[in-house]
Amino acid sequence: MKPILYIVIPCYNEQEVLPVTAPMFLQKINDLYIDGKISEHSRILFVNDGSRDDTWKIITELSQIDERYCGISLSRNRGHQNALLAGLMEAKNKCDVSVSVDCDGQDDIDAVDKMVDEYLSGSEIVYGVRSDRKTDTGFKRGTAQFFYKIMRAMGADIVYNHADYRLMSKRALESLSNFKEVNLFLRGLVPMIGYKCSYVEYSRKERMAGKSKYPLKKMISFAIDGITSLSVKPIRLITALGFIVAVLSIVGIVWSVITRLVTGHTGGWASTVSIICFLGGVQLLSLGVIGEYIGKIYLEVKARPRYIIEKKTDEMK
Ligand code: UDP
Ligand code: MG
Repeated sequence: MKPILYIVIPCYNEQEVLPVTAPMFLQKINDLYIDGKISEHSRILFVNDGSRDDTWKIITELSQIDERYCGISLSRNRGHQNALLAGLMEAKNKCDVSVSVDCDGQDDIDAVDKMVDEYLSGSEIVYGVRSDRKTDTGFKRGTAQFFYKIMRAMGADIVYNHADYRLMSKRALESLSNFKEVNLFLRGLVPMIGYKCSYVEYSRKERMAGKSKYPLKKMISFAIDGITSLSVKPIRLITALGFIVAVLSIVGIVWSVITRLVTGHTGGWASTVSIICFLGGVQLLSLGVIGEYIGKIYLEVKARPRYIIEKKTDEMK
């Protein structure tokens, strides 16, 4: 029996790019089927992440043209990670293997061939890794690289230059479904699953149409979410900072006692005030970092649903 492949594609306000890229995805599963690598029941599963434009209309129209196009629609915008999870969890019940990819055509779809080969030779997870980012703007490239470095330094184990373009077997998806966290950061979670994994390189292209849905503000909050949901290193750094400040103040105390004894007076309104302000700043910053974790705990304890599926195309019902 050939494996059933589901290509899972989150879409948020992608009416410009969907008509361009959808036929490419279809062509890909068609080619793989002709090559005898996958089953004829393989599908393309679009996840409409509460788009405000005609994305869902396009998806339903596509599903009427060809039964290999399917879709689910979330009740509102829940963000890329939740939309992707929704798609993967729906695919899990129907497929043997899934590939997640963005709908803008930036990730070279031809890499799926190599991913499927790796799967057929025993890998449960295959990561798509960008071999170069020449087509990204210097700014995007710089911030993305900075992001990976910070993540690593903060103790989050993520695959360098890997976004959410990856193959996961049914078994890996079932294991992923046991991770119940609300603060979802798939790039950090998937390596935690384990199993045999491998890497496939591809070159990153330009967005075929439409605009990036990840402006700098979203990227920064994505990075902070990533760090705080994967590692407690920032809290450890605060402990270390507290320790350093304590040692420095002991040195300061000794210094003031000695100058008092030697010169007969200790001066310095300015130095006192600046030290107080400095420590105030350090304390507020530390509280902010701890608060970030408490906020995460708050959300986890509530355990609200990560997504709600409102509509499905006929194939997915
Ligand atoms: N996306 C989504 N929900 C969102 C934002 C983005 O489903 O709230 C999807 C988007 O449609 C695309 C993918 O996530 O398929 C990646 O977004 P984008 O290409 O804008 O990010 P970039 O490649 O610029 O980092
Ligand atoms: Mg993109």
